[in-house]
Amino acid sequence: MRNLHSLVLAFLFVGAGILPASPQAAPAPSRPILPALGVAAQDSAASQSSAASLGDVIDRVVQREHFFLAQMRHMHPMVETYIQDLKTDRSDNPQPVKDHYFLGRLDMTDGPEDTSFTGQPGFGQRMLTKLTGVYSMHFLPLGFAQMVVLDTDFQKKYYNFSFVRREFLGEVRCLVIDVEPRAGEKIPRFKGRIWVEDQEYNIVRFNGTYAPPPKFDFYFHFDSWRLNMRPGTWLPAYIYTEEQNLKTGLSKNLHFKAQTRLWGYDLKGLSRNEEFTQIVVDSPQSVKDQTEAAADATPVVAERMWERQAEDNAVDRIRKIGLLAPPGDLDKVLLTVVNNLLVTNNIDLQGDIRCRVLLTAPLESFTIGHTIIISRGLLDVLPDEASLAMILAHELGHVVLAHRFDTKMAFNDRMFFPDEASFQNLAFKHSEKEEEAADAKALEMLKNSPYKDKLGSAGLFLKALQEKAPHLPNLLHSHLGNSIVDRKTIRMASLMASAPALQDNRTDQIAALPLGGRIKVDPWSDQVELAKGKPVALNSAREKMPFEITPPFPFLTRISTPGADKVALTAPAGDQKPDPKQ
Ligand SMILES: [Zn+2]
Repeated sequence: MRNLHSLVLAFLFVGAGILPASPQAAPAPSRPILPALGVAAQDSAASQSSAASLGDVIDRVVQREHFFLAQMRHMHPMVETYIQDLKTDRSDNPQPVKDHYFLGRLDMTDGPEDTSFTGQPGFGQRMLTKLTGVYSMHFLPLGFAQMVVLDTDFQKKYYNFSFVRREFLGEVRCLVIDVEPRAGEKIPRFKGRIWVEDQEYNIVRFNGTYAPPPKFDFYFHFDSWRLNMRPGTWLPAYIYTEEQNLKTGLSKNLHFKAQTRLWGYDLKGLSRNEEFTQIVVDSPQSVKDQTEAAADATPVVAERMWERQAEDNAVDRIRKIGLLAPPGDLDKVLLTVVNNLLVTNNIDLQGDIRCRVLLTAPLESFTIGHTIIISRGLLDVLPDEASLAMILAHELGHVVLAHRFDTKMAFNDRMFFPDEASFQNLAFKHSEKEEEAADAKALEMLKNSPYKDKLGSAGLFLKALQEKAPHLPNLLHSHLGNSIVDRKTIRMASLMASAPALQDNRTDQIAALPLGGRIKVDPWSDQVELAKGKPVALNSAREKMPFEITPPFPFLTRISTPGADKVALTAPAGDQKPDPKQ
């Protein structure tokens, strides 16, 4: 019974832009609002109307921005910043040579601050004083988290505004406005361009820097995007930063790119108010069921239930911290690959296997009991289904070989620790011996599987990983499980022997994809799905960008819910002049 689902899956992967292609969604073309005919007349009319109403529009924008700031003070999203330092190679292509990683939860009650999870100094002032090296001098005063806010004291009187044009970002029509601090402003303020959606006048994107720069320092340039997460509410989701060959005065050259992502806004969805991490008592009926089951449990069944409880507790805890996506369709895609391996190997496991997606960038996969967890970053960079099968096969190896995990988590009190101590309190690492055994089992399963003839690409992926490992230690450091590559070993290393040679200069050999191309995270609900970007042919080998950060270009959409109309009532519709009284 070889009821395999490869085709369905292959389709999904092709649809996700997995071909030798830049998977990043193409920038939305700026479609002119005005028809080609009679542009001159309408254009002047439009600019006249905007000249007449610009002041009113700015009033609304400032008002909405203050509302935004007030809202952000109640929001505590996860914030992840990943930085790659670049250096140009002999063919003048920038290559990552070093990386940095920060993860925390944003707390803006007293300005943009954060609680760091990664044991590193936070994004806040602490980072400025504690970080060593060139970054200590050049990060923004409040770090990357600062860039979620245009100006904590945004007021019309500090700035000159000039209307540029109308433009669509995705399906959202925006007013594009240039913003510059007025002459004589001593306090650094935003300088650049803002995109304002034209229904409620929320800023949905701002791109620029802060000016004037301090005497012996400077501010980074950034591109900050907000998404419409609730009716009338646009919240920060992506910030991209890039500096090329920036002279920093001390004959140091700053050359890097960085991406900050925010998610986990919906704390209610994480049931953060619960007293206990596991609620056993639902209704009298279920209590009765469980009691009967426990009464009948043989020692073996009881042991399994105990392990399952520990597994559920640990998975719940990671979810509540905001590190794990809720169960969803992508899990089923992963499970299909797992089932392909199980079916072709005639393995009949006791107890369900589950797959879940970790929301962070570092490339990691690990297993908690029968739950296989794979990170968003790893799913992004895997070149094809066979390489995904390799990663899942290793984890399945742990399950099939019944490698134990620490059941101390079956006791709920062990789940009470502050979020920022997660990485110290949660660890799902296996011994070296178990790692080797899981590799061997995985190889055995892969050789019987539908992936057996495609393992070259999996080996190639590992080669690419090995090549980049010295430069990207933070991307390859696993926070919760075993790292895929460490100083001595690389997971599934034997697959590299049969893989073709790595050819960085060929556009038709894709060993690994850039970050950020395949998995789309809903920053409100944490739901994950495969991105819909169409595959694009590569122009040059430089566009391969394996494991690299790329600029985000989200396709903006408006939330349309039954309540949305009501919220929009206060905003003028379409091109109408805003009501000056508002
Ligand atoms: Zn392992």
